[in-house]
Parts: sequence; structure tokens; C-alpha cells
Amino acid sequence: MTAKEILKYLQAGERTALIKRADEVRKEHCGNKVILRGLIEFSNYCARNCLYCGLRRDNGSLRRYRMKPSEIIKASYGACEEGMKTLVLQSGDDFYYGVDDIRGIIKDIKKRFPDTAITLSVGERPDDEYKAFFNCGADRYLLRHETMNERLYKKLHPGQSLKERIRILEFLRKTGYQVGAGCVVGLPGQAIEDLRGDILFLQDFQPDMIGIGPFIPQSNTPLAESSIASVDFALKVIALARVVTKNSHMPATTALATLDEGCGHILGLNAGCNVIMVNFTPSKLKKDYAIYDNKVSVSLKRAEAAVLKSGREVTFERGDSLKR
Ligand code: SAH
Repeated sequence: MTAKEILKYLQAGERTALIKRADEVRKEHCGNKVILRGLIEFSNYCARNCLYCGLRRDNGSLRRYRMKPSEIIKASYGACEEGMKTLVLQSGDDFYYGVDDIRGIIKDIKKRFPDTAITLSVGERPDDEYKAFFNCGADRYLLRHETMNERLYKKLHPGQSLKERIRILEFLRKTGYQVGAGCVVGLPGQAIEDLRGDILFLQDFQPDMIGIGPFIPQSNTPLAESSIASVDFALKVIALARVVTKNSHMPATTALATLDEGCGHILGLNAGCNVIMVNFTPSKLKKDYAIYDNKVSVSLKRAEAAVLKSGREVTFERGDSLKR
């Protein structure tokens, strides 16, 4: 799509045709099955201070937790036993866990469940650590680019830069990972033209996976009083991402399900998504992974019900990249 075309879609009030097109592209390139992945949010400590995120360093009201490696492994086994063939291990940017800790976790899970794909989502780390994780069995890495507007990126992520984020995405790909990028829609200060930049980036980079969700304010952040993003607008951005990347794996995000408890997942699945993340974080910790307010916890039952309602079928396959 040209920049002009993308902008036209983003500006238009009408979105039915775009969503229908995204649904057709999804069907042709990804099929009808919806892949379930198991998510474990193992630490809510974070060294960064992203203005929109409840895990930010300066949020003193958050009860912090760190799961021990043995607890992470136990939760991972639990998810595998429920049938998950992908584990997404996510945390704040928490350097408490050293290379050996994370390698130990990966190796243990891979030994016990060799067919399980491991996706890391642990933020920005030194290049040699990314290499070490890959070499001991990590398959995929999620690192949203967040926003392609360099100025906005800098403002929202004190001390970080968009250039570095993109460099890391490229490095991860070169290392051999299946790579996930993506953005937040409706960030305070984000213009429609910025989202055009996000779609153009996704079109150019062709990530193996894409996570796109609406911005939801978190009450203990500097953006607490900002307005919630519109679900309809987020769906348009998701649909555009589907059209320009064709076969990237794209979850109907938990943020969508949070803004529309009954239909969020289904709306996402109808607008080009083909994945749902099921939450396997131990229940007593879940509520403390408070990246935004009222984040729902997606159970296996709930994910399956959404898929069924959308007239599609659940699959427990690994769902490796369709781009290779
Ligand atoms: N530390 C990891 C994981 C961050 S949490 C990393 O940096 O990659 C996962 C994602 O949650 C982030 O990439 C961000 O896009 C999203 N997120 C954080 N706060 C949010 C908010 N208030 N509304 C919507 N999405 C948010």
C-alpha cells in the first residue's frame, strides 16, 4: 500500500470494507485456525520508565513480584500440559535475571517439552545475551517498536531511542529469531500520520509476528488522565497491518479484550488476527502485572469460547512463522 492509501484508510469514517479485506487476506494467507499461545508474566520489575506503562520504574504503588526460575519452569510445564505449543515468557526489563538464569529456564523447558516454541519478551538486553538465549533454544522474540514517531518515542520512553529499538529488531532477525514488532494505538500525542508510519514500517520490515493494541491509561502513571483509545480505530490499524503483511501472526490482543470484555477478541479475529494469548501467570500474581488498568486475564476457556463464537477453529500447533 502507498503512504497515501494508508492515510486515506486511517482518516476514513468507513471501515467495513477495510476489515472485510483484512479478513480475506487473513483467510488466504493464514487459514481459518486460531493459534493459542501460553503467556507467563514472570516479573513486573522494570528498569525503564515508559510513561504509559504501569510497570515503570517510578511507579511506587505497584506491588512488585519476581518468580523464581523454578516457579517459571513449573508454570511453563503447566501451560504445556494444557496443550500450549508456544510459551511466551514476558517481564519488565528486569536485569535481576542474568543470562544463566534465563538460559537455565529455556534449557529446562526444552528438555522436558522439546516440541514447544519459546518466545521471549523481556525487553532490551545486550546483543550477546540475545545470542546466548537463541543458542540455547529460544525461538522467537517479541519487542514492539511501540511508535515510529521518533520524537514521541523519545518522550514516552525516557532514556531510550527508536533507532536502538529498530536496530535490536534487525539484530534479533539476523540472529535467527522469529521476530515480533508492533505498536500501541491512540497514545497521547500520537497523530494519524504517525500510525501511517507504523504501517509503513510493518510493510517494510515484514515481522513474523505483530502485536497491536489500543492504549489504555494506567492510574499510577503520568498518563493516567489521558483518554482511552478507540477500539474501532485500533481495529482499523490491525486490519491495515494484516493487509500489508499478509501472513504475519497477529494476536487479538488482551488490550482489545479489556476494552470490550464481551467482543474484543472476536472483533480482533474478524479484523485480521489469527492468534490469542492465554494467560498462565499464577493467579495470585496476575493482577500485579498491571501494564494498564483492569487488564483482563484470558483463560483457555475464554479464548476457546471467543474462537468458537467467531466461527473459527482453535489449533494447538506451534504456529511458526509463515514467512520462512
Ligand atoms: N518489557 C517488555 C514487555 C513490555 S509489556 C518490552 O519492553 O518489550 C508489553 C507491551 O505492553 C509493551 O510493548 C506495550 O506496547 C504494551 N503496553 C504497556 N503499557 C500499555 C498501556 N498503558 N496501554 C496499552 N498497551 C500498553
